[in-house]
Formats: sequence, C-alpha cells, structure tokens
Amino acid sequence: IPVEPFDLVIFGGTGDLARRKILPGLFRRYCAGQIPADSQIIGAARSEHDATEFRAIVAEAIREFGGGKACEDGTLDEFLQRIDYVTVDARGDTGWSELASKVRKDLINAFYFSVGPGLFGDLAERLHRYDMADDDSRIVVEKPFGRDLATAKALNASLAKHFDETQIYRIDHYLGKETVQNLMAVRFGNMLFEPLWNSQYIDHIQISVAETVGVGGRGGYYDKSGAMRDMVQNHLMQLLCLIAMEPPAKFDPDAVRDEKLKVIRALDPVEPHHIVRGQYGPSADDDGFRTHVGDPASKTESFVAMKIAISNWRWAGTPFYLRTGKKLKARTSEITVVFKDAPHSIFGAEAGRHNNELRIRLQPNEGMTLDVTIKEPGQGGMRLVDVPLDMSFAEALGPNVAEVPDAYERLIMDVIRGNQTLFMRGDEVEAAWAWTDPIIEGWQARGEVPKTYDSGSDGPTDAMAMIARDGRIWREIK
Ligand code: NAD
Repeated sequence: IPVEPFDLVIFGGTGDLARRKILPGLFRRYCAGQIPADSQIIGAARSEHDATEFRAIVAEAIREFGGGKACEDGTLDEFLQRIDYVTVDARGDTGWSELASKVRKDLINAFYFSVGPGLFGDLAERLHRYDMADDDSRIVVEKPFGRDLATAKALNASLAKHFDETQIYRIDHYLGKETVQNLMAVRFGNMLFEPLWNSQYIDHIQISVAETVGVGGRGGYYDKSGAMRDMVQNHLMQLLCLIAMEPPAKFDPDAVRDEKLKVIRALDPVEPHHIVRGQYGPSADDDGFRTHVGDPASKTESFVAMKIAISNWRWAGTPFYLRTGKKLKARTSEITVVFKDAPHSIFGAEAGRHNNELRIRLQPNEGMTLDVTIKEPGQGGMRLVDVPLDMSFAEALGPNVAEVPDAYERLIMDVIRGNQTLFMRGDEVEAAWAWTDPIIEGWQARGEVPKTYDSGSDGPTDAMAMIARDGRIWREIK
C-alpha cells in the first residue's frame, strides 16, 4: 500500500548509515511501488556536493548495498530524479535557507537525523528557526540514544524543546525485524501460547544475540561503549519487553509502549554475581579486542551474559538469561522459551525427562521451532524423544517472503505513516538507562576486568558456570 507523498530530509545523507541502509531501503520501497512519484528525498550533510554528485553517490550506494528484488529498467533513474542535495552545517547557518526553500510544507515532512547525537539539539532548533517544522513534522533519531540516564535525559530535553513526543521516532532497527513483530502476533494472535506464558509453565527464557564480527573500524567508539550500552540497553531490552509484556488492550503505539515500560520498571537490580563480562582475546587470525580498540589495558566488555528477574505476578520465579557478544561462534539472534517438565511422568524413569521448547530465530533464517515430545518410533517399550515442529517463515510463506522489507525500510515507511508502535518512547529509553547505569557504575567502582574468551567460542567459561549454578545450560549458538 503506497504511503502519502512526502519530503524526507536525511541529515548525514552522505554518511555510512545513509549509504548502507537508508537510501538503498528507500529505493527498494520505491521499486515496490510504495513511494509516490511526487515525493522528494533531500540529502543534507556538511560535505559540499551538488544534486548531480549526490545522485551519483546514491546510485553507487544502491549498486553496492541495494540487493532486494530486481527493479525494472529505468526505475533507478526515475528514483534518482526524486533526490536532491543541500550542503548544510548543523552547527552554523550554511544551507538552511536553501533547505527551507526546498521542503514543501503541504506534504508530510520527515527529518532523519543520521548524524552523531551531539548534533540532534542543533538540528531540532534550526528546523524551527528556519520554519521548516510544523505540528505534523516527524524527526527520526538514531542510536545511541545517550550513554547513560543523564545524557539520555539531556537528549530528550533538547528534542522536547522543539518537538512533541508524538513527533519523535527513536529507531531501534531490531523492532523493524519481521520476527520481532511476529513475537506479538504469535503471543497475542493465538490461544495456544498466552495461557502458558507465565512462571507456572515456563522454566526460564534465554535471549542470545551473537555476532561473529569484532569491533571492526568502530574501535574508538566501541571502547567507550561496550556490549552493555551498545546491545543490552537497547536491542536485548526491547526483545525482553516484547517477550515479557502483558497483552496491550490494542495494537496502538502508546498501548504497546506502556506495557513495555512496565516490564522495564519491574526489573530487579542485577546482582554482580549474575553478570559475566567478557572480552575477546587475540587468536591466530585476529589481534584481539584490546588491539582493535587501541588500548592494551581496556576494561570494556565485548560480551555480556546476565540473569535477570522481573518482579511481577507473571514472571516471579522465572529467570531470563541474556547474552550478547562479538567474535562468537556464529551469527545468530535467538529467543528460547524453555517450558517446565510435565509434572509427573507416567512412562517411568527410562523414558527420561522431557520438556517443550519454543525457539524464535530472528536471524538468520527467521522462523520458529517448537520441540514436542513424542514416542521414539520403532523402539520397544515407551521411549520418548523430542522432535521439532519447524516453521521457517521463508518456506511457509513461499514467494511472498521476498517482498518482506528489511527493518529500516519498514520503519521509515512507518514514520511516513505516522505510526510510532515500533519506535522507542522517551520514557522507555530513560527507564532502560536507569536500570543499566548502576550495573555499569558497579563495574567501574570495582575496577572489574572482563574475562578473556577465544574468538569463535561461546564466550567466557564463567558464563556457562553462571547458568550451570542454576542447573541450566545455554542453548547452542549455531
Ligand atoms: P558517518 O560518520 O558515516 O556520517 C555522518 C554524516 O553526518 C555525514 O554525512 C556528515 O557529512 C554528516 N555531518 C557531520 N557533521 C555535520 C554537521 N556539523 N552538519 C551537517 N552534517 C554533518 O556516520 P554514520 O555511521 O552514518 O552514523 C550516523 C548516525 O547513525 C550516528 O548517530 C550513528 O551512531 C548512528 N548509527 C549508525 C549505524 C551504522 O551502521 N553506520 C548503525 C546504527 C546507528
């Protein structure tokens, strides 16, 4: 379904994120017929280019990162005609009047802040000073949204001076993933799961987001951030919220976000012995984290595993184990819901103990698997075995799946539609930092050094020991 015509200004339009995700994503939506031809996309960045040069940058980005379904011949040229460029200095006056003259106020206006957070306040203020923003304009802001509660509050305040919360779209691209939205569909669209979705039936839940890459060229930034700020406070926290929240009364932005906020507010502080931090060491083909970040004494974590308790009626007694790291064995994001054993086995000891597990894969191969216990075929006596009921979305949905937009595409279209459901609200972000800050402050106060782990492993052995103390094991990263 096409959106209304719009003018989208991408501040930082020449940057890495714009070239890798935003511009190719817009092109794919254009190919899909979702962007009306009278829309306009204006790159705005400090580098000096004219529109022709910027179009060449866009074409190159689409060639490199475009992917997706092939567009018809000539569509790229058509798309490029919708592209314009203005050299703008977020901190000065350069370019602002010219930009204002190009933005058509009778259309939906969206302003994507694909620049460092240090410029958010400047951009918000100038959009108003140059009379580009009205009550219906939207701004899109990128992560990181602060590095602690104080900076997140300051950022929120700098935006709130000029924009209402209903106009601010804080992107967490995890929320744009098909399977993440499917979490809500599965939980609240079926009768099968929700009655069992509590501590009476669920033993524990694991959330693992594993990467095979190291810090790459982002060493300087990452050394000041670490896995807790870079991944847990935002992505893993969002997944936790969707898995643990109460059913909202309806699928509307504030109803959903109210319920997510309640989860964050119900999180217990995490005991130090319920967290393991890790840092990948040097290996045969890799110099290791400390070399990558250029600090031989760095105490920043590239891995974190933790046990979390949610203190409310639904979850009291059911722990959540979260784990994320770089340079691990495989690239995967998976949520595993481990149900309790049946209360009594009628099959005797030799049948063994069995339980159901629901695995929700976010990447790769988005899909779900439910382990069901059945009789082992052909065996004498009653021997039981767990078999997966496997549902790969790609297989189940067949050719339609090729049409599924990637996370950024979907989220940008949601901005144009004015739907904030999949964006983080200011109070959610602040609540997540309020929970995260004491953990990080504790590490700093204790001068805690992360445990070293091997590249290509499951992370530090202490993470296995932490969950083993509870008589449980991590599900394999594969
Ligand atoms: P980048 O350094 O590649 O690009 C920055 C852009 O900002 C450039 O276009 C530059 O011209 C522009 N810019 C810088 N100073 C400016 C000024 N004073 N006035 C106007 N324009 C100015 O950065 P990036 O990697 O594209 O990241 C942009 C934002 O997105 C950052 O907040 C980053 O944290 C976030 N982000 C990036 C990624 C990613 O994969 N690159 C992922 C998640 C979030």
